[in-house]
Amino acid sequence: MAGSAPLVGILAVQGDVREHAAVLTELGARVSLVRRPSEVEHLDGLVIPGGESSVIDKLSRAFGIAEPIRAAIAGGLPVYGTCAGLILLADRIADGIQGQQSFGGIDATVRRNAFGTQSDSFETDLEVPVLGEPPVHAAFIRAPVVEDAGEAVETLAALDGGGVVAVRQRHLLGTSFHPEVTGETRFHRLFLEMVQSAR
Ligand code: GLN
Repeated sequence: MAGSAPLVGILAVQGDVREHAAVLTELGARVSLVRRPSEVEHLDGLVIPGGESSVIDKLSRAFGIAEPIRAAIAGGLPVYGTCAGLILLADRIADGIQGQQSFGGIDATVRRNAFGTQSDSFETDLEVPVLGEPPVHAAFIRAPVVEDAGEAVETLAALDGGGVVAVRQRHLLGTSFHPEVTGETRFHRLFLEMVQSAR
């Protein structure tokens, strides 16, 4: 990677933090785990992992890091959210628990657990034009879908049925699925390009 390696934080209050750390380290980024307000400073990018969005929301507010993250998003910090992380990046949540909040930033409604109990977890090969060939092997685990996206939101991938599962809005990237658990590194590469261009 050209220049000094970017410093990418991973919000580490709950969720699949280690998997993201492994991919980002493999791609040459420096990784720091974020659990306190001061740890949001000096980052070049931030990853919000998969896990349980209502728990990540509650703990982030309890630890005082929700507001610094909101401010960083508003200030243009590149952020990548996977699954629960995508829910936390949505301006609006459908089927959230009572009182559930998000950090926001992506002008869309994200519906939690959108695939019901029959197919709540599945894997599929997904065409992602911005990443080219081959398709992305994507793991969906009680995954959300993106609905009612505003004009600024770019669809990067949709399922055959039409459900939007990967989006980008300027410096914000979100996927309903977990590239970090299937050995897929191209979304993280794309995110690191966004981080580099924001530096
Ligand atoms: N269903 C979870 C939520 O609402 C997300 C699942 C995941 O991140 N794999 O937060």
